[in-house]
Amino acid sequence: MSKTLTSLIHVNAKKALYFDAYNYINDQKILRNDIPVYNPATHEILCHIPDSKEDDIKLAVESAIKGQKFWFSKSCDERRDIMYKTGDILQTNYDNIVYAEVKDSGKPIWEAKMDVTASIDCIKYFAGLANTNAITGQYINMGENYAFVRREPIGVVAAIGVWNFPLLTATWKSGPALASGNALIFKPSPLTPLTSLMLAEAFTEAGLPTGCFNVVQGGAQTGSLLCKHPSIGKISFTGSATTGSAIVKNISGDGLFVPAKRLTLELGGKSPLIVFGDAPLEMAVKTAMMANFLTQGATCSNGTRVFVHDSVYNRFIELLVAKMNQNFISNPQGIGDPTLDTTLIGATITSEHAKKVMSYIEKGKEEGAKLVFGGYRVHPPGLTSKNGHFLMPAIFSECTDDMTICKEEIFGSVMCLLKFKEEGEVIERANNTYFGLSGGICTKDISLAHRVSSAIQCGTFNVNTFNMYPVQIPFGGIKGSGYGHECGLQSIEHYTQWKSVYVDATSADNPSSMFCPYFDGLIP
Ligand code: NAD
Repeated sequence: MSKTLTSLIHVNAKKALYFDAYNYINDQKILRNDIPVYNPATHEILCHIPDSKEDDIKLAVESAIKGQKFWFSKSCDERRDIMYKTGDILQTNYDNIVYAEVKDSGKPIWEAKMDVTASIDCIKYFAGLANTNAITGQYINMGENYAFVRREPIGVVAAIGVWNFPLLTATWKSGPALASGNALIFKPSPLTPLTSLMLAEAFTEAGLPTGCFNVVQGGAQTGSLLCKHPSIGKISFTGSATTGSAIVKNISGDGLFVPAKRLTLELGGKSPLIVFGDAPLEMAVKTAMMANFLTQGATCSNGTRVFVHDSVYNRFIELLVAKMNQNFISNPQGIGDPTLDTTLIGATITSEHAKKVMSYIEKGKEEGAKLVFGGYRVHPPGLTSKNGHFLMPAIFSECTDDMTICKEEIFGSVMCLLKFKEEGEVIERANNTYFGLSGGICTKDISLAHRVSSAIQCGTFNVNTFNMYPVQIPFGGIKGSGYGHECGLQSIEHYTQWKSVYVDATSADNPSSMFCPYFDGLIP
């Protein structure tokens, strides 16, 4: 590293075309231009990142071990104040962070604004918990004696993030980890390295001790090195089921000892949204769109299998297609430059990913689904075809449960419409998937909503809306969608461990709890 680097958080991200993206270790910026990162909307190089290897990880772990001891020795009020101040610093630099997120991820600016606001909420929520009973332990009265149960941090936690919600993932993981006294090493996706660095700088500016939040850049190999490192006590992973499964194998040890590392996995999904015949259809159409088209369809919890009751199936399609026409055909600004306020859908993250989504659309047609809307490449006005990869969302009707597009996670804007007749039938079909991330229902019947929400196998469920995940409620999957939770009080459980301490309070010379006769030489 030869040049002095400006803090990313203070760079005018609206104007900037190129950023310095570094490793952030021990509050030091370490720049190496190993891997190019592209702006998805223009396909121009946005930054370069280091490809972190063993030595980088070693440095980050050493710095985290030192930082964590100091951080945990602070009072919980001090931890609250520093985290709260971090939220304020993020708020002050809101525009810069929003523009960096848009340029990094390709998502439209209206969504990036929501994500950055939710990230600030997240840091402030966990700041608020830092000095409450959610993080402290328990006292148990034993008559003359007593016990207490300490909730202790795990120590050094490594978190691995994805490209669809870069800052939100970093705050969902650092919020509970830091509030409960851990140090964190965050590895963002190599496709979206910028905003977790801005978060790191905000933490430092707010007074977080050196070494408590480190960012190491890199891809699969860097992630794998973190998972193997013996001094890292917990891995919090967000990503695909395939990578999750590789990580389980990676940390499973040598067969002699139970591995000491804890793991939470936030993986993919193929979630159902069920529209019953009594649902107001305008609301159901908007819900289905929210369940499918956020972040170019690359949202893990999306309700991509939309089951619509036979009695309203045709009308639902009519209204849905009309709404899509209004948003994206009559309105040429609907898809395009993600930095514009008028854009509803931005750029697909990479050309490979756009090809993958298009290949699923072809597969859907081959297998007999009927493409009723979109499903083609778009060349938005003002951006030449060489730039970015923009896709018109695809809607398929006449889908059947066994079609590839209805079984596999596509992670793009491909909505599958499936017809159903009976409540029992649709519950069985909705649950007939490897995944279990989320689910939803549209209905006016509150009893039905309760019955279906308890019958669907998933971690989160929405009634008459979709993809609503405020920080106060836990978010996580079951079945093949992983285990553990982000957000809510429940997330604290995944970043802490319990220690029970029994105290004989009577007298050290004559302890009342020493009931064993052997100690006095007496054999009963
Ligand atoms: P991915 O699994 O390819 O990569 C995720 C992260 O893991 C990246 O940082 C990557 O560098 C790292 N990685 C890759 N191989 C690794 C290995 N062997 N060991 C350790 N780390 C490794 O996923 P992606 O394509 O970036 O993201 C898309 C997937 O993420 C989708 O399946 C989506 O559903 C899922 N996702 C889940 C949630 C959730 O909260 N449940 C949220 C967002 C995305």
